[in-house]
Amino acid sequence: MTPPASTPTGAPDLGVIDFATREDMQRVAGDPAAVAQFARQVEAQLKLIDDALREAQTKVDQTGAAYDLARTAAEEARGTVDQLEADATILRDNATLSDETVGMLVQRMRSGSYVVPPELGVFLSVDPHDDLLYQYGVVSALSVNESELSALAEATAIEIDRLLDSAEVARDEAERLEDEAETAKTDAVAAQQWLTSQLNIAENNQNVLADILRELGYNVAPTSYLSTMIATRQTLLASPPGAVNALGFAAPMANATISSPFGPRTHPVNGGSAMHYGTDFVTGGTCGVTIYAVAAGTVTYSGWLGTYGNHIEIMLADGTRISYSHIADGGLGVRVGERVVAGQAIALAGTTGLSTGCHLHLEVVVAGQPIDAMGWLTARGL
Ligand SMILES: [Zn+2]
Repeated sequence: MTPPASTPTGAPDLGVIDFATREDMQRVAGDPAAVAQFARQVEAQLKLIDDALREAQTKVDQTGAAYDLARTAAEEARGTVDQLEADATILRDNATLSDETVGMLVQRMRSGSYVVPPELGVFLSVDPHDDLLYQYGVVSALSVNESELSALAEATAIEIDRLLDSAEVARDEAERLEDEAETAKTDAVAAQQWLTSQLNIAENNQNVLADILRELGYNVAPTSYLSTMIATRQTLLASPPGAVNALGFAAPMANATISSPFGPRTHPVNGGSAMHYGTDFVTGGTCGVTIYAVAAGTVTYSGWLGTYGNHIEIMLADGTRISYSHIADGGLGVRVGERVVAGQAIALAGTTGLSTGCHLHLEVVVAGQPIDAMGWLTARGL
């Protein structure tokens, strides 16, 4: 039972441990010293299982937190790119409009039908682009003389170039951060897969080891980390499914109401204004209520995700991703890589991550973009 040199967590790999069996127990029967030594070995193996699972869980939590940070950074960087491009577009549109107006006014000046008011000179101290937007608007409305206008047009063109150059740099940075987020997600999912593999081995051995100890007259620690995880999962697997409609979809929570819809809002925790990319569901005594899979699919994430808390993501056959967040600690009932059916009980609601109270935060992501989950659900008869 020598652990391998390294595993993803640094903890022993349960897969290489030669677990004690009933045959081993029979072999030592009748020799008190051998029985005592055997019992210590079984106790050590039970502790090893718990340690290995805790460390695997820690790795899931750490990689999940890192992924959450990486994807937030990537989203912010993408927002900067969008803002710079939008500024450049506004400036260019204004400039185009103004060019037309200016042409007309210049003709009127030449024909003597328009005299430039001297106070307009004040608008021509060009520079920061916010002022440029304003100045171009004023000039287009009132106009001045030809050389001042061409100076302003030139400054505007320079500012548009500067914005586009900045957008280019910001875009490179956003792409780099998006790659990092993708790598962080791969790491997080790998940690979840590792935990699953260790759980499977643990489930097959823990009960046998505990039974052996009891038969030898030893006490077995009543609650272990594994017991909690397995109990939730088995409870959920045995739960009656949620109602599935004629189109093959199910409500994520029975008798739920929406406590916060998709869209811009003031964040309930940090008070800042933020886009709410999900729909929040609550029901009577939300803490611990069952969450159902809205649609059939494959579990692509089941673990910690920073501000999202315990998080499950399920990918549908058409690539749509539906995720369920703020799940209770120990409330994850499905494992990464598993197939689920619509209406399957998958989790217990909680308030983990950045959350003020028990609720389900449901997100629907189509082609990489979060959309209003209610529109999606309504279109599917929910
Ligand atoms: Zn929410």
